Amino acid sequence: MPTKPKDAGPKKPVKEATPKFPAKVTLTEGADVRTLCDALKVAPRAVLEKLAAKGYSLSSSDIVDEALAGRLSKDLGLEIEMISLEQAARRDADSRPADKVVRPPVVTIMGHVDHGKTTLLDAIRASNLVDKESGGITQHIGAYRAKFGNRSITFIDTPGHEAFTQLRARGAKITDIVVLVVAADEGLMPQTKEAINHARAAGVPIITAINKIDKPEANVERIKQQLSKEGLLVEDWGGQTVSVEVSAKEKKNIKELLEMIVLVADMAEIKGNPKVPAQGVIVEARLDAKKGPLATVIIRQGTLHQGEAFIAGTIPGKVRAMFDENSTPLKITELSMPVEILGFDDVPQAGEIFQVVSGQEEARRVVQLRIGRLKKEEPERSSHVTLDDLFKRLEEGAVKELRVVLKADVQGSVEVLRELLPSLSTDKVKIVIIHAATGQITDNDVLLASASNAVIIGYNTKAGAATMDVARRESVDIRLYRIIYQLTDDLKKAMLGMLEPTAKETYLGRAEVRKVFKISKIGQIAGCLVTDGKISRNAEIRVVRNKEIIYKGRMASLKRLKDNAAEVKKDLECGIALEKFKEFQEGDLLEAYLIEKVRPT
Ligand code: GDP
Repeated sequence: MPTKPKDAGPKKPVKEATPKFPAKVTLTEGADVRTLCDALKVAPRAVLEKLAAKGYSLSSSDIVDEALAGRLSKDLGLEIEMISLEQAARRDADSRPADKVVRPPVVTIMGHVDHGKTTLLDAIRASNLVDKESGGITQHIGAYRAKFGNRSITFIDTPGHEAFTQLRARGAKITDIVVLVVAADEGLMPQTKEAINHARAAGVPIITAINKIDKPEANVERIKQQLSKEGLLVEDWGGQTVSVEVSAKEKKNIKELLEMIVLVADMAEIKGNPKVPAQGVIVEARLDAKKGPLATVIIRQGTLHQGEAFIAGTIPGKVRAMFDENSTPLKITELSMPVEILGFDDVPQAGEIFQVVSGQEEARRVVQLRIGRLKKEEPERSSHVTLDDLFKRLEEGAVKELRVVLKADVQGSVEVLRELLPSLSTDKVKIVIIHAATGQITDNDVLLASASNAVIIGYNTKAGAATMDVARRESVDIRLYRIIYQLTDDLKKAMLGMLEPTAKETYLGRAEVRKVFKISKIGQIAGCLVTDGKISRNAEIRVVRNKEIIYKGRMASLKRLKDNAAEVKKDLECGIALEKFKEFQEGDLLEAYLIEKVRPT
């Protein structure tokens, strides 16, 4: 065997040889150390050894979460970009524009109560009954398709902006077009205006359906005039808003409405890529006594096949069977199609993104990463803008405008503030009011703010305790004022980064977990000894393990012996259950603290 000349042979491993890394790698959620090494084009051993020298103890199957990616970036001297599974899929779908095809639009019907939304949905469904030769009755699965000629339109079966915004607050963009129903006899009502603002905040085109034209008191011109006041100038008044006069009850002009939807869809160039792994949005989910967890998904990208593995939020699964709205079994899907899917491990949440993955192994890794992240105080959710951090975000370039949902006691105040607030805009930040109305702050306002990264400003109004809870969960900043000067002053200071924080943290005490009890209905109770200060029932709790905060949240119960306790002092034992955290370990430290308002909001 010829021996290679010494200098041309494979280089002996030189100890200090540093693997050559690219400057930047992109990792998709759920990637492990092995995937990172593949992306770096180096053998896992080389990286692991280098990292071991720096004090890491990692194995190639360890998942790279944000914290690890941050540390690795620093220690390996490269940039690791972390993207979500859905972002990766979207990039994939967008990377081959030639594969994109026109897909049917997804439509939500909105409008004031009793203006005919449900009747219109029924009329459209009935107009399509010719398609149902099988005699199958349309099931309510959360959405259905209607045909217009050879075109198809998907309608979301839950009308109204509440469901619409709830889906959006979860991060899902599902609706392509909003049909705004206005009863011709009644005209624009508060919820009509709310619906317009919700659709606008989502950047979705609006078609107006002026309904109940069969009624003698119907006054179409008056509606058009009212619409123009809200900035929706209809076409025959020289504007751009497509408007159709219908009677849902008498099924009049339904075809015309469908025709207009197709027209607006064509103008909006609604497309999808059928050649990538399927992605969709959960519109409805439930537990069926016989079939187990099932959910309706509207497919946005790709083609879904029976047997494929998927993940929706933190719920993995495998498509066991799927059906369309007529209960017809399907093997594969089309774009924009609503399908009821069997095979979820648990019931997913509406609004969650449904994403096909390469296999159950990938699903497992992503679920593990996501659950870990949720425990660390849901960082994605807390990413909404607040007045306290507005300046920082402006500096980072993360925001360019401050969106505001405005609620006030009377119409006069709404009008004044609607003029006044935008006038405070500066070169750096524009104040945009996305919704303004009278009345209390509602859950809906919070969801709109959450979906649109807005703050809520209440003037001479309030929010109920339940709404405050929703706001806390969605990390939406609610500010209440009684004096206009204070409101404008706060906004000005917030834009300059001079606003003093409204809350401060006060440490109360610490308890150590001595024993963990599993209780079937509640989950877990930590049997603790209070080692410092005291633990109060109304305190916030931080769970600290190995000096790292692994969870922050509220208590579900505090017990001394068998009784509920308001507080438990040093050297006493107690039982603590937290609202969401159920993975206590012996030795965990629970730190109790209060968040106190340091000045009124
Ligand atoms: P929603 O609350 O917007 O879903 O409204 P519904 O669809 O439940 O309709 C409210 C009421 O208006 C019902 O009594 C319907 O029968 C009636 N309605 C709906 N559309 C029409 C219409 O085109 N003409 C007339 N006269 N009544 C209608």
